[in-house]
Amino acid sequence: MAQTLVLLATRPRSRYSGCFGTAAMNIYLDYNATTPVDRAVLEAMLPFFANSFGNASSIHSCGQRGRAALDAARDLVANLIGANPSEIVFTSGGTEADNLALFGSANASPQSRKHIIATTIEHHAVLNAAQELERQGIEVTYIPIGSSGVVDPQDIRSALRPETILISVMHANNELGTVQPIEEIGRIAAEAEVPFHCDAVQSAGKLALDVDRLGVDLLSISAHKIYGPKGVGALYVRAGTPLEPQVYGGHHERDRRAGTENVPGIVGFGKAAELAKANLKADAARIEILRDRLDEMLAGTLPSVRVNGDRSSRVGNTTNLTFAGANGEALVIALDLQGIACSTGAACSSGAVEPSHVLLAIGLSPDEARSSLRFSLGRATTDAEIDRALAIIPATVERLRAMSPRALSAVHAK
Ligand code: PLP
Repeated sequence: MAQTLVLLATRPRSRYSGCFGTAAMNIYLDYNATTPVDRAVLEAMLPFFANSFGNASSIHSCGQRGRAALDAARDLVANLIGANPSEIVFTSGGTEADNLALFGSANASPQSRKHIIATTIEHHAVLNAAQELERQGIEVTYIPIGSSGVVDPQDIRSALRPETILISVMHANNELGTVQPIEEIGRIAAEAEVPFHCDAVQSAGKLALDVDRLGVDLLSISAHKIYGPKGVGALYVRAGTPLEPQVYGGHHERDRRAGTENVPGIVGFGKAAELAKANLKADAARIEILRDRLDEMLAGTLPSVRVNGDRSSRVGNTTNLTFAGANGEALVIALDLQGIACSTGAACSSGAVEPSHVLLAIGLSPDEARSSLRFSLGRATTDAEIDRALAIIPATVERLRAMSPRALSAVHAK
């Protein structure tokens, strides 16, 4: 913590003036946190702020231009995941989509006894919603996950009960990148006739998505993870899936989510979805090669570095590494000072640095979790950036390790 405070104090405020194309930050390796808005997405959105600004529910032509743009965007988002456009409910993002899936399913179920299955590595948008449902009297089984970071579908099968109303399992984990066996879980859910929700916020744009092949009834996606704007997302709702709205008002989104539609945001989401589908194969193949190089060089050249989660079942852009003996938060700041943006295996909550629930869930100790970093690459990541990152990261890790006597003994003990 002391190291972190010293580093923070040396960081000039002007760093926040921009992320790309400035001396302040030139290697962005935090694409799982968010992505820049693609220029084509921005251009698609611009007319809908001040020119074609009509309310999509208005009958006049200004409103109808918004309605037409909304319909076109709905087609593009549906096309990204192999859905029917009528099954797309636009939301304010992935968090709201996850909340709508969990609360909407719970409220729609007539049973008095209700049970939900989720995993321990879900995003907080699912976990905290599940915990709130527990406070409301619903039982939740959290399936434990081993060091692979991949759930065993048989554990889901074993947890099923007659009163189970929903299974919620994420596709790609945001911290580890590990991909869950959604198709197999989909088959188990279908056999048991239990609705199946999948948080695909981190797999959209990275893996080909098809709701029928995956066997999901509900699926969450978010625009800002696929080079679209923040504050827009969608929940796919398979026709016939019981779901109670969570926002009441007008008849928007076929009575499933009230509120005047965010036309510019949704138009941007549509364009981002179109680009994600068109670029998927080329982006994924190129990015994976760069991620593997980063992984192999860091884990191969530095002592006491471990790659977290099963390396063979990860999305191609993400790696999570434990640098034993180096404080992750201090590392993030030290790297930031040298122009590299990445993130820690810990989150700041109520002023304290809490180790990541995902890393703890797969068996890391709190110290190991606090010594972990996530690097997530994206469409703009270049070979030269990875070369530069590889020139900076090892020396920075060694420098921080040398600053901590406790750290040194941890390295030598391994
Ligand atoms: N689910 C996952 C797996 C995520 O990674 C995120 C965001 O980091 C969310 C849900 C929340 O999405 P949003 O930021 O659009 O609310």
